[in-house]
Amino acid sequence: MTDTKERPAPPAIEARAPDCPICWRETSFVDDCFECEDCGCYWPKGFDEPGEWTEPDEPQCTSTHQPFKDNPYVRDQETREQVLRCVLDDGHAGEHRHPDHIGEWTDASPNTARLDVEDEAPAPSAKPPLVVDVHLPEVADA
Ligand SMILES: [Zn+2]
Ligand SMILES: [Zn+2]
Repeated sequence: MTDTKERPAPPAIEARAPDCPICWRETSFVDDCFECEDCGCYWPKGFDEPGEWTEPDEPQCTSTHQPFKDNPYVRDQETREQVLRCVLDDGHAGEHRHPDHIGEWTDASPNTARLDVEDEAPAPSAKPPLVVDVHLPEVADA
């Protein structure tokens, strides 16, 4: 009589937010959109659409990394020479990250460098600044 032979129910299932495509940690759901506070980005347009940076005016981090440079198992020259630039904002805390690279790097990791931003050509997609010439009529003092 004490042995009920009743199988316990499986534990409750928990809803999970999608992983951040930069750091692969679970995002949080804040103000109707998924957000990764660590990477400083959020996805206001939902799934399958690019996200936005929390601080869009911050310049990009200048740390670069060649994750496969000394990897003897990578035979493809192009892959070995691939240079990834951290996508986080300049002066961010913690490790450097790139969405094409599962894993992070620090300034002490091998095959890392800092881009000299002074030498950097402006991005080809950057729009030229909009120059508006405004001529206001002279207003006589009353
Ligand atoms: Zn993240
Ligand atoms: Zn970085």
